[in-house]
Amino acid sequence: MQFRTRAIHVGNHRCRETGAVVPPIHLASTFVQPGAGDWGEYDYSRSGNPTRKALETTLASLEGGCGALCFASGMAATHGVVGMFSSGDHIVAGSDIYGGTYRLLHQITSRAGIEVTLADSTDLAAIEAAITPATKLVWIESPGNPRMTITDIGACAEIAHRHGALLGVDSTFATPVLTRPLELGADIVMHSATKYLGGHSDLMGGALVVREQSLFDELYFVQNATGAIMGPLEAFLCSRGVKTLELRVREQSQTAQRLADWLATHDQVERVLYPGLPDHPGHDVAKRQMDGAFGAMLTFELRGDYAAAKRFVESTQLFQLAVSLGAVESLIEQPASMSHASYAAEDRAKHGITDGMIRLSVGLEAFEDLRADLERAFG
Ligand code: PLP
Repeated sequence: MQFRTRAIHVGNHRCRETGAVVPPIHLASTFVQPGAGDWGEYDYSRSGNPTRKALETTLASLEGGCGALCFASGMAATHGVVGMFSSGDHIVAGSDIYGGTYRLLHQITSRAGIEVTLADSTDLAAIEAAITPATKLVWIESPGNPRMTITDIGACAEIAHRHGALLGVDSTFATPVLTRPLELGADIVMHSATKYLGGHSDLMGGALVVREQSLFDELYFVQNATGAIMGPLEAFLCSRGVKTLELRVREQSQTAQRLADWLATHDQVERVLYPGLPDHPGHDVAKRQMDGAFGAMLTFELRGDYAAAKRFVESTQLFQLAVSLGAVESLIEQPASMSHASYAAEDRAKHGITDGMIRLSVGLEAFEDLRADLERAFG
């Protein structure tokens, strides 16, 4: 079955009792057992819930994994991954990553004695140089956040595996419509389901999809032991969102490409960071590892300072000033003061997150209306 057919039918069984074509939402926290010490398919909703399981089954199919685990948020999912490691272990993370992941790694994971090194993941030699004998995980995002860097996932998998480490990919921006990291050799794919998977700015969620059963079992153990599971209502909403994932992502990506082409010619724009532009340093890798489009996130730099960028993001109307991304509504933000405010100032500077940067999450509105909104903000 094709991707969009699986997004609708895999995991979403019609209700056997009523024939309802949409499965019910199972809110039960506990399930009657066949006998004492005799566990049925479900026993307690932290350990497993039919509505969550339906979504996990769909996501495993879309990413080509052996199984998926859904969490309360993207951060909870990433926390689940680092929960596998212990004192003395080492993680190499890309430098163009979500600010919250940076904070988790530097201010929470580090408390457990796990060391973290940031490296430019577009530079394979830098990734390899950052690996030590204690490295257990290489963690990357592609496209990266907020500079839209493109990392060669297959090459990173080869490097990580050669050193006995796992490769985890935060694929929130790409979605399985455009990139399937497990097919490229990654071990774990992570999504903030809050974003494109849900797609409508109305749920918080996270997901991990893995290639191998032994790793799935380890992550399931961490999830069940720590309890940051996705609730059934969120799982239902996310399943509904996933049914239109391919249509939304392809349409939104097309609009983003048109906006990037237009912004690249604008005299008040210093540069546009969008992998669909031929002069983007990751364009060739993106063409190889992204399926026919380059995503709906784009960043540009104003010819102007922090205050000018702040004024700009505060003056659009259709592009609403908010963090988050990936929904039908377009959003705008200033990474330096919003999504990446948790970076240490020197790390922001070192990793190219400038004050004039503006990040757009391009929604489903008409291109002409979005362009007119930005035109008004340029003044
Ligand atoms: N990864 C990326 C790329 C994100 O943009 C976000 C949130 O903005 C997260 C992870 C964290 O996800 P959540 O907010 O669902 O915890």
